[in-house]
Amino acid sequence: MRQIADHLKLVANVPVRNIGTIAGNLVLKHKHNEFDSDVFLLLETVGAVLTIMDSSVHAVTVSPVEFLKLDMNHKLITQVMLRPLEPTYKFMSYKIMPRAKNVHAIVNAGFLFNLSSDGNGTVVERPNIVYGGINPSFVHATATESYLDGKDLFTQETLNGLMDSLEQEIQPDHVLPDMTPEYRKGLTKSLIYKCLLNLAAERVKSENKSGGTTLHRSVSSGVQTFQTDPSLYPLNQPIPKIEALVQWEAEYINDRPVIPGELFGAFVKTTIGNGTILSIDPSDALVRAPHTGVVKFYGAEDIPGKNSVIPYPTAFTLEKEELFCSGKVLYWGQPVGIIIAATRELANKAASKVKIEYSNVSKPVIHLSEVIDNERESWRIDSGHRKETRDNREEINSGETTHVAKGIFKLGFQYHFTMETITVQCIPTEDGIQIFASTMWMDLIQRGVSDVLAIPQNSIDVVVRRMGGGYGIKITRPNFAAAGCALAAMDLGRPVRMVMTMEANMEVFGKRAEVFTTYEAGVDDGGTIQYLKADLYENVGSSTNDPNGDLALSGIKNGYDESKWSVVAKDVRTNTPSSAYMRGPGTNEGIASIEYIMEHIANVVKKDPTEVRINNIPKDSPILVLFDAIKKSGDYDKRRTSLNEFNKVAQVCAYILGVPLDLVSIKASNTLTAANDIATGGSITSESCCYVSH
Ligand SMILES: Cc1cc2nc3c(=O)[nH]c(=O)nc-3n(C[C@H](O)[C@H](O)[C@H](O)COP(=O)(O)OP(=O)(O)OC[C@H]3O[C@@H](n4cnc5c(N)ncnc54)[C@H](O)[C@@H]3O)c2cc1C
Repeated sequence: MRQIADHLKLVANVPVRNIGTIAGNLVLKHKHNEFDSDVFLLLETVGAVLTIMDSSVHAVTVSPVEFLKLDMNHKLITQVMLRPLEPTYKFMSYKIMPRAKNVHAIVNAGFLFNLSSDGNGTVVERPNIVYGGINPSFVHATATESYLDGKDLFTQETLNGLMDSLEQEIQPDHVLPDMTPEYRKGLTKSLIYKCLLNLAAERVKSENKSGGTTLHRSVSSGVQTFQTDPSLYPLNQPIPKIEALVQWEAEYINDRPVIPGELFGAFVKTTIGNGTILSIDPSDALVRAPHTGVVKFYGAEDIPGKNSVIPYPTAFTLEKEELFCSGKVLYWGQPVGIIIAATRELANKAASKVKIEYSNVSKPVIHLSEVIDNERESWRIDSGHRKETRDNREEINSGETTHVAKGIFKLGFQYHFTMETITVQCIPTEDGIQIFASTMWMDLIQRGVSDVLAIPQNSIDVVVRRMGGGYGIKITRPNFAAAGCALAAMDLGRPVRMVMTMEANMEVFGKRAEVFTTYEAGVDDGGTIQYLKADLYENVGSSTNDPNGDLALSGIKNGYDESKWSVVAKDVRTNTPSSAYMRGPGTNEGIASIEYIMEHIANVVKKDPTEVRINNIPKDSPILVLFDAIKKSGDYDKRRTSLNEFNKVAQVCAYILGVPLDLVSIKASNTLTAANDIATGGSITSESCCYVSH
């Protein structure tokens, strides 16, 4: 019972466990065989018996696995019975999870062995070997159970046979986002091996014993102390977050009750990345509309105002973006229209049925490597948004240069993963429209919707109570959902809601811009930069809105002496959605670029990276004081020295030869002393040098 109770603590979380029932869990498994239910696994492993009663109060008893095959129509689970087990029965169960709480198993396992009472480890009856997370029909490793029946569990021969049997028998399916079949099969073997290590107890060598136990992570704790000034209270006074007490009932946009007559919208999107739209045919989606629940399709031609959804110029917007593509396709997933239907599911389904024909289809340009490697930058790079730290890079002084660090730093796209995707609810009112939007910029929605609908801004009210995460994507991008739904709501005179699917959110909107920084740094022996020429390319996608260039240039400075630098930031258009601001946009990319360059310089001049950084900070900068304080409080020099010493082959040599360390000197490698060698790498050289000292 203890083992069952411990395993059940890995199910869901405390509130779910408090209200969820055993029968409810089993019925979910019955309905969805692919569900790797822990409750089912445990009950099946220990041989529990379920009582099922039908509407005429007729009861049958079945095992959990038999229950899966029963027709449960008009039936109830009325009892779950656990049979008593003698001490010779050994029961173990495991759950491998992607995180410690609130998540289904990658693989879970239950094992029940009845072992001979003489302590020899003979399996005296067919064991139960149950796994979840393999495939929907898999419960017992039946062949392995037969194999083990009567065997001595703790011999090498049995172990080998057991592993061979599992290798044959376990055939995991691969349904994304599941982990790979190979990994899951590996887990089934590891878990039974873990169980055997535990059961074999004293037979196991001491160094292998910990393999039989489950690691327990104790509660992490920490203390942060803040000083406050009571004379300024309530300023800086410690108080609980004002909303904290009502968080359990915090209302997000999609928690707002559905209003009678409310409809749902879903974008119809392009299915090519580069080309021209010839025609759009929504007839398959609208067959027998509105009787099917699908109401209407709106495209670029239905827009009463301007087909321009992002007002510009503003602090963060520079150019026009169409609400619905009117011809030239800029990227795969670009909205060409919106389908309105009675439910979200219907709208999403109908949107996928709209047929779009294209012409001039050509290969889309997705990554910076395609532009830069092919030297196509002249037509792709938006020279209008080129930013430079200085006018003439040839003027840079390169007098003291003794080393050069040259390379490319690359960063990929980064998706925002907000808890709530882009969500809006548009409600027609007597003087215009009210828009509940998960947006970081209400004013932009007001202006964008006004442009699209050709109605005054003062007839549009935008309301934001709270957002389920923004991280930058909700600065300009929510305008698309707001304008699309507002268009339909005003035309139909009914509320329209859109809760974008995660897939649509990823397809329609951009991510943190991909970055390439090509650089050449000339440095002196201390790593101080004598000249730096760097080009920071940002893949801004289909538009330069949410521009990054300036921000990247401010980030790349990062407190260093930039008097001898020439850095140019360039926005590069590609056939991807317009990149969206993402936490520390531009600055992060700039900082990452220069820190990568500093590491490269340190490597080239063979100096400690911290020393190289200090050499590049202006002598009167307050950052140096901070550096000094952190170095002291972190005991940096001592730790660095011990690290260096730890890594020294010389110590091994001195120890083996029994001579003082200073008698050992390091010579360059050559083919005379190290003839017929292989490549150095992965510590092979250090370890080989230590070895030859013997
Ligand atoms: C966030 C979260 C995480 C979770 N993680 C896990 C996990 O890690 N491992 C795991 O095993 N499970 C997990 N679960 C599933 C959870 O254990 C089940 O949701 C729960 O046990 C269902 O119980 P319920 O009483 O709410 O069932 P309900 O949702 O009320 O019922 C489910 C179905 O069973 C039917 N039903 C209920 N009782 C009976 C009965 N006596 N006879 C016949 N039919 C009946 C209902 O009509 C319904 O069709 C998780 C669930 C959540 C929400």
